Formats: sequence, structure tokens, C-alpha cells
Amino acid sequence: MRRAIYPGSFDPVTNGHLDVIERARKLFDEVIVAVAQNDQKRPLFSLEERLDFLREVTGGIEGVMIAPMRGLLVDFAVKQNARAIVRGLRAVSDFEFEFQMALMNRKLESEVETMFLMPKEDYTYLSSRIVKEIARLGGDVHEFVPPCVVESFRKKLKL
Ligand code: ADP
Repeated sequence: MRRAIYPGSFDPVTNGHLDVIERARKLFDEVIVAVAQNDQKRPLFSLEERLDFLREVTGGIEGVMIAPMRGLLVDFAVKQNARAIVRGLRAVSDFEFEFQMALMNRKLESEVETMFLMPKEDYTYLSSRIVKEIARLGGDVHEFVPPCVVESFRKKLKL
């Protein structure tokens, strides 16, 4: 059984994240999408909301599980019996931080490999941060996020 962890804040999940989940699922029997609590990042959506969006949009994909995550990513991976961490790489700007994280995680736990997947070109400019910015300013985000997220933006931001 090949199992991978795809960690992130997912505040909120975007079509870019979904693209990475689907690609990862082709390589692994099971993909656990691990949603970090990340209070320091002051998320717009609560942990429960972020988990619910992901459950709704990945509900139809067999072998994809959604789980909250606290503590060290490598500890979570070992506990879940996963040998790989999947991260998305959009552009060179992602590289430095991701490279540092991957090597630090390897130092902490040498049995867990980090793998990078590139999304479809259309999603390379997409991030949760930019989507939130557009939504806050009243822009239309339906091309970038699943319908349940569009609806939730509408309610939360009273658009
Ligand atoms: P974090 O808070 O850990 O950066 P994010 O939820 O922003 O978490 O992203 C989780 C992972 O998904 C990261 O590896 C990030 O690079 C990747 N990712 C985010 N948006 C996209 C996208 N549009 N295409 C590909 N990968 C993406």
C-alpha cells in the first residue's frame, strides 16, 4: 500500500490543490490531505470549514482521505504509515521555501521523502491568498475554487 500525505493550510481549497490531489492519487493508493490548524496564519476559514470543503470536493475520489493535523508533519506521516509527502510547485518563487522544508523534514525523518508535483499550467498563478484577496474586493472567484467555497465566501464576506 503506497500512502502519501498532502499537507497544507487549504484556506480555502482551490482548483490548484484539487489538481495536485488528483495527480498524487494516480501515483499513490491512498492520499491523506492533512489540514494544518495554523492559528499563526490567522486563517479566514476555521479548521472545520476547511475540512468540510475538502470532504465535499474529494468525496467522489476513492482513496483520498481528509484529516486535521497538529504538530510535526513528519511525525504525522510516520503515524499514518506514509512514506511520502506531496507538495505542489507553481513557480520558482515556491522553490526556496519548499526546498528548505523538504531538507529539514528529511533531516528530522530520513524515511519520508518529499515529492513535488506541478499543477496544470492554468493553475500556476493560483493561490489561496490571492483568491481571498479577489473575493474580499468583490471579484468573481468561481473559476478558481469549487462551488461550495464560492458560496461560503458570499456568506462570510456578505457579498
Ligand atoms: P501552506 O500553508 O502549507 O503553504 P497551502 O494550502 O497554501 O499550504 O498549499 C498547500 C500545498 O499546495 C503547497 O505545497 C502549495 O505549494 C501547493 N499549492 C497551492 N496552490 C497550488 C496551485 N495552484 N497549484 C499547485 N500547487 C499548489
